[in-house]
Amino acid sequence: MFSKTEIKEILTQGNDEILIKGLKIKKKIFGDEILLRGIIEFSNRCRRNCLYCGIRASNKFLKRYRISHEEIFEIIKNIHHYGIKTVVLQSGEDVKHDIKKLGKLIEKIKSNFEIAITLSLGDLKKEEYRYLKDSGADRYLLKFETSNGEIFEKLRPKTTLKDRLKNIYILKELGYEVGSGNIIGLPGTDLNTLVEDLILIKNLNLDMIGVGPFIPHKKTPLKNFSPPDIYLSLKFLSLVRIMNPLSHIPATTSFDALKKDGRLKALKAGANVIMMDITPPIYSSNYEIYNGKSVISYFKNIDEKLKTLEKMVKSGGGVLVKNIGKSLKK
Ligand code: SAH
Ligand code: SF4
Repeated sequence: MFSKTEIKEILTQGNDEILIKGLKIKKKIFGDEILLRGIIEFSNRCRRNCLYCGIRASNKFLKRYRISHEEIFEIIKNIHHYGIKTVVLQSGEDVKHDIKKLGKLIEKIKSNFEIAITLSLGDLKKEEYRYLKDSGADRYLLKFETSNGEIFEKLRPKTTLKDRLKNIYILKELGYEVGSGNIIGLPGTDLNTLVEDLILIKNLNLDMIGVGPFIPHKKTPLKNFSPPDIYLSLKFLSLVRIMNPLSHIPATTSFDALKKDGRLKALKAGANVIMMDITPPIYSSNYEIYNGKSVISYFKNIDEKLKTLEKMVKSGGGVLVKNIGKSLKK
């Protein structure tokens, strides 16, 4: 594949070749199809204090919420009606998560609907990951955020990169389809970090890869740091695609927060998945991990959200599809 020097050259030079290659490989594997996934941000309560994150425990400027399991079930029932076949349940590290009850909810969803469930709840105990898997969860997203252990520990107090990676391996061992990735341009990181991030992503052999630019949030200690350049971020995504042709790669909303039409640009650089925020708007405004969340999040009805995404995908030459979108690696 690429040498470290080649990767650095690509990331620093101004040519579009790598973006075109990213798109070409995406098309070769997935054609024009862009997979749709729904996401419910069901709790913004978090015990952690990650320096980059807007819902960190120390941020007192937001209303904390936890969506009831009954309401989550109703939201899923509604999107299932629209044919959406995969849903991500994401939250902060809410210490009040009742894992037993969550397992029961997953069982209920799986026995009622043909839908894949992805969890993104952060660090849990191995037994908890296992219980949720046995309850029917299909996938888990746990980003390593940065391959630099020192920076990791500074930005995610009381946690280590080693433990994060250990959890990623546990999730694989338990049979989840696993997603991970980095935040591009975290304060303190440089070009060398990005090269190491790319190598780590490749070595983890992931089913799904989430990469997106760092977006400063006004109520965090990192508020005065700048986000990375959009072009660098897109080239990074293309390299991820080229080095991991079979992985599902979403055009994350942070690309939209960085630049107008950022997600569309990410699709054109090799991403093959788009997420639709289906968190009810009364909660959604309090789930600002970073500032500048996509306006589509606040549309009230699913129809309107779907049409907007369909239009966007079409304008990039793609077709929005609602398959389960299983891993091509299993
Ligand atoms: N609490 C869970 C899941 C929610 S956070 C966890 O931490 O794993 C989901 C993702 O949001 C994180 O993995 C991180 O990559 C991303 N994120 C948080 N703050 C961000 C910021 N300021 N800019 C870009 N991405 C951010
Ligand atoms: Fe909590 Fe996740 Fe935000 Fe860290 S990134 S503060 S664990 S929600």
